[in-house]
Amino acid sequence: MFHSAALRLTLWYLAIIMALSIIFSGMLYRLSADELDRNVNRQIGYFNNFLGPRENDNYAQLRQTQVSEDRAHLRTNLIIFNILVLAGGGAASYLLARRTLEPIEEALKSQTRFAADASHELRTPLTAIQTENEVALRDPKLNKAQVVGLLKSNLEEVAKLKALSEGLLRLANGGGQMRDTVILDIKGIAEAATARMAKAAKLKKIKIVNKTPEYWVRGEPDGLVELLSILLDNAIKYSPAGSRVNVTARKHHREVQLRITDSGQGIAAEELSKIFERFYRSEQSRAKADGGGYGLGLAIAKKITDSLGGHIEVVSTLGKGSTFIVYLPAA
Ligand code: ADP
Repeated sequence: MFHSAALRLTLWYLAIIMALSIIFSGMLYRLSADELDRNVNRQIGYFNNFLGPRENDNYAQLRQTQVSEDRAHLRTNLIIFNILVLAGGGAASYLLARRTLEPIEEALKSQTRFAADASHELRTPLTAIQTENEVALRDPKLNKAQVVGLLKSNLEEVAKLKALSEGLLRLANGGGQMRDTVILDIKGIAEAATARMAKAAKLKKIKIVNKTPEYWVRGEPDGLVELLSILLDNAIKYSPAGSRVNVTARKHHREVQLRITDSGQGIAAEELSKIFERFYRSEQSRAKADGGGYGLGLAIAKKITDSLGGHIEVVSTLGKGSTFIVYLPAA
């Protein structure tokens, strides 16, 4: 599809280039031919004063022949020029067409990958629900307790599906174009996110220590609270009970760096570059049955950061802990 679109675009570009080149050549030919005629007539008129009528005729004929030759020469040159424009323009048009279509092709591929990944993730809980219900229906001695168990299990899978679809929706809406930014205090944002994650932290007896100073950044409040909540949620999920999570910030030139540090399981060096990809979960996290997400959190966090004109990095040592650093433009 993209190959034929590139060819069609190439033809359009080439048609425009050739139309301009031919118009330009035609005008050049017309002007040059007129100029040659004018010069010859002037010369013949001038020599008319010195030469006799016969000599003058001969001279006029000679100059007319020369002018015809010059015109033919000019025509040949312009034809060669246009052939060169056609060849060079064709190659340049094709390259330009490919470059124009590249981002569209990339976006389409990414959309297709996204749909394929999402359907793949949706299938697991759906298959679980289907299998459980089919098995239960085939059992003639199904009692009330078993039905209650089945419904509970179904509800668990539905909750997973809901979380997944919410994550997908946030990922689809979460970035792309630059968000509407305002100037806000990062301390307030850190406090709001800490409050949001307080219950999850309490359940695991994890203490979130928030020492964020009052720095002003350019951002969007909801997006920033969500971003910080994702990082805090991960810090809680991937840290042992009773540990601490620190939230700090510092200002460097025109940037505010927000740091979320945990002393949890850490991330292997070879996985550091992959964790921001959607649906990526480390082997260690997949192996754990509890607290599992779908590998969408950091992809959403990255999208939010990018849409605010910032970026996000991670420093981690396996078995010791991780620090996620969010760089935001200072106000
Ligand atoms: P999820 O937490 O739902 O699996 P994320 O996109 O938030 O998805 O994280 C992707 C992966 O990155 C996680 O599965 C985990 O392996 C790793 N990870 C993220 N945050 C941390 C952290 N603070 N400590 C250790 N590993 C982490």
